[in-house]
Amino acid sequence: MLTLSKLIDEDKCYETIRTMRWPDGVCCTDCGAKNITKRGKHATYSARQRYICGECGRHFDDLTDTIFAGRHQPLKPG
Ligand SMILES: [Zn+2]
Repeated sequence: MLTLSKLIDEDKCYETIRTMRWPDGVCCTDCGAKNITKRGKHATYSARQRYICGECGRHFDDLTDTIFAGRHQPLKPG
């Protein structure tokens, strides 16, 4: 049952990230709109929800633009 427990942990992990990131509900990482449609799950990480913005059309997921995404992003002043 190792796989199952891993999946549960992953679900909890992403749920925590979502709660921290969007305490009032998911909003666009680009324009901040709350007109968001779920677009299925990540192909590799089944707990990772993908979204599309109804305002600007941006595609993003739970980890887009977070430190968890594994990208190196410069710190923005201010
Ligand atoms: Zn948007």
